[in-house]
Amino acid sequence: MTGLLLGAAAAAGFSARWNWWRPKADGIPGLMYHRVGDPPARSRLGKLWVRVADFRAQLEHLLAAGYQPVFAAQLADPDSLPAKPAVVTFDDGTADNLENAFPVMKALGVKSTIFLVADWMGRRNGWEDPAVEPWQRTLSWEQARTLADSGLVDFGSHTMSHPDLRALDDQALAWELTESKRRIEAELGRRAAAFAYPFGAGAYDERVRAAVYAAGYSCDYGVKQGLAPRAWTRAAGPLKRLLVRRDDWMLDFRLNLSRGRARL
Ligand SMILES: [Zn+2]
Repeated sequence: MTGLLLGAAAAAGFSARWNWWRPKADGIPGLMYHRVGDPPARSRLGKLWVRVADFRAQLEHLLAAGYQPVFAAQLADPDSLPAKPAVVTFDDGTADNLENAFPVMKALGVKSTIFLVADWMGRRNGWEDPAVEPWQRTLSWEQARTLADSGLVDFGSHTMSHPDLRALDDQALAWELTESKRRIEAELGRRAAAFAYPFGAGAYDERVRAAVYAAGYSCDYGVKQGLAPRAWTRAAGPLKRLLVRRDDWMLDFRLNLSRGRARL
């Protein structure tokens, strides 16, 4: 009896933590990473640092499941997509993306998109409070060019300075969007067609979103959890993604792909 109760309690706990009981969902997984490697001491953003070995296992699983990674901007052009597309994204453009993540992606031939904070290139994550996380180096333009030349990495904009866009007046808002796009295109010689909002789920409103499209982007990525529709259009709202966390198990990763979410 005790064993039965314990078993039931364990099953209930299991069900409460994971979403395995949800029906399988259809859509394109857009994996959202920030940093790959080990967090610095005293980091309060440790959950955003995915271990290199976990990152490799996740990409290997993605490929073994038949997914074909495409660049983020391709979701704006559904006719261009392969049978089973996936998107691998990184927000912020910190140097670990090159040093820790890229060797894995290169070995596996996985395409990814990095959303850059254009005015902090070659410096540090200056938009974050160092009390929250000690400074991290950001990619230099030279390093970004190396990644672009590999043919495996594309770049989108994550603004100039990583502000809360809703707090800006129209002129400052337009500058964050158009100047970051112009700078990335001038430095890297390729179109920056995808945009990712900084500061999370609430970091856009209809005014901000209209400004993104007025600046010439062809798609916008948010941080709402979920799969992206196969035939996405702007009217469907910002593209959803799947946050990958340091303490995710492979089960979390698999549920993300098949259900659009892992834990409750
Ligand atoms: Zn960010």
